[in-house]
Amino acid sequence: MRKGLLFIVSGPAGSGKGTVVNTLVKNHPEIFLSVSATTRKPRPGEEHGVHYYYISKEEFEEKIKNGQMLEYTTYSGNYYGTPLKEIEEAMERGKDIILEIEVDGGMQVKKKLPDSAVTVMLTPPDREVLEARLRGRGTETEDVIRWRLERAKEEILLLPDYDYSVVNEDGKSDLCAEALYKIIQAEHQRTKYTKTIIEKFI
Ligand code: 5GP
Repeated sequence: MRKGLLFIVSGPAGSGKGTVVNTLVKNHPEIFLSVSATTRKPRPGEEHGVHYYYISKEEFEEKIKNGQMLEYTTYSGNYYGTPLKEIEEAMERGKDIILEIEVDGGMQVKKKLPDSAVTVMLTPPDREVLEARLRGRGTETEDVIRWRLERAKEEILLLPDYDYSVVNEDGKSDLCAEALYKIIQAEHQRTKYTKTIIEKFI
């Protein structure tokens, strides 16, 4: 059975990573998209078990204590984390897994699972486009926009710690999703996974 790999997709708010990752799993439904747990409240249209598992702070802290989180972080005053159980199950089935998580969590996973975790950072093309996207939502106050821009800069500065990066141009999320898919395919062609072919020649 082909070994399942873990792909961590990070990118600042405004990188369009949600759209890209959703396009990827829609076009390639064999890929498993991990559903995170969070203590933040659902936004309109979000569903428990689909977008996130919405749990209380107490429940979250209990799961940390019991070692049930592969990684977790606090972001904007809330906990976010990856439940370990589903990841283990998907890996046992040889599935490729996508974690759409921020940089702190991404680095935790890379440290824990250096042999099977591959990190990809999605970025907007430049600061102007990023700012336009954050303002374009029209739902945030100026303070929040400033905070998000600063946070975006901090996240992008960690790009050299990632294995890959992909630029998400305006209106090109389909291309970006295919770039991600190519990375997944290429990672499976690494000789550490393909060397059994040698046996067919001896
Ligand atoms: P949002 O509240 O906008 O859905 O997500 C806020 C940030 O939390 C995003 O950067 C998102 O990628 C990140 N995030 C979502 N789930 C997880 C998770 O399980 N772990 C970590 N470390 N970050 C997460």
